[in-house]
Amino acid sequence: MNFDELQQKIKDFNKERDWDKYHNSKDLILALMSEVGELAEIYKWLNKSEVEEIQTNPEKKKLIEEELADIFNYIIVLSYKLDIDLLKVTQDKLEKNKLKYPTDKIKGIHSNFIQGIKGN
Ligand SMILES: [Mg+2]
Repeated sequence: MNFDELQQKIKDFNKERDWDKYHNSKDLILALMSEVGELAEIYKWLNKSEVEEIQTNPEKKKLIEEELADIFNYIIVLSYKLDIDLLKVTQDKLEKNKLKYPTDKIKGIHSNFIQGIKGN
């Protein structure tokens, strides 16, 4: 399945349930944040070894997969509701970030440690 097919399936799913009327950008962002919170809940209070272990635990991995899917779903709905070409803007942002974080200056260094680099 490609992205357009997935997006259409999500549109159909919401249309069949008459949920479009609830999908304004404010409520979609709140729903998205709720799903991010559900993902964070899985990791909350885990120590380093527990975080590493979670990736080999099939039950935990399934929970993570489902929350990621919920997050991705809301990102897709928000993007088509705002008439944003998600693939294009993501590619554009990647190109912008390549210029912002050139490999010859930042390779192996977290961006927070680079002075003078600010913004989103
Ligand atoms: Mg969820």
